[in-house]
Amino acid sequence: MKRKNKVLIMIILMLAGMVALKFTQSEEVPDDWRLILVNDKHSVPKNYEPDLTQLSNGIYIDSRIYPDLQQMFDDARRDGIYPVVSEGYRTREQQKKMMQDKTDSFINEGYSAKEAEKLAEKWVAEAGKSEHELGIALDINADQSYSSDDDVYNWLAENAFKYGFILRYPQNKENITGIDYEPWHYRYVGKDTALEIYTRKITLEEYLS
Ligand SMILES: [Zn+2]
Repeated sequence: MKRKNKVLIMIILMLAGMVALKFTQSEEVPDDWRLILVNDKHSVPKNYEPDLTQLSNGIYIDSRIYPDLQQMFDDARRDGIYPVVSEGYRTREQQKKMMQDKTDSFINEGYSAKEAEKLAEKWVAEAGKSEHELGIALDINADQSYSSDDDVYNWLAENAFKYGFILRYPQNKENITGIDYEPWHYRYVGKDTALEIYTRKITLEEYLS
């Protein structure tokens, strides 16, 4: 009898442990990595660690989006459009440094430290609140020797959803995203979600709410 009780208690403890583990995991990183929301109100989940692939120009991106990105760029080139990834994954430290550099540049222009900080926050996301820290957000511009930025932006606006990417900060949605229009910033969400967001002309925030 005693031995039976011990075994029972052990089983209960093990089950409780499994439930606790599951709970903390889902608290930290959502089930679907493609739908993680990062903005001025939502930080990058704790312990988020992307598996990275390095592009030929040295920039790192999440390995899971690489095949779709590759296909998108191949198809763009077939249409005579030459995009390049100019920003991909950023570490927390790099994001912090970007904010510091921007603040310093305003201080150099003669603003007080406090004013400079406020201004910098309009241009650069706070550390922990940039999608670039996920590795699934990219800034895409033109290979200037073949295309103009506008050519690339127009092509992406029409086609990126087919490959699972959305224009993350559209025009006239600044009040929802908290970020001004950025025709170069694309974010991976997967093809089904991208199609819905593109068709309904909504933002990731609206899709998730
Ligand atoms: Zn960006």
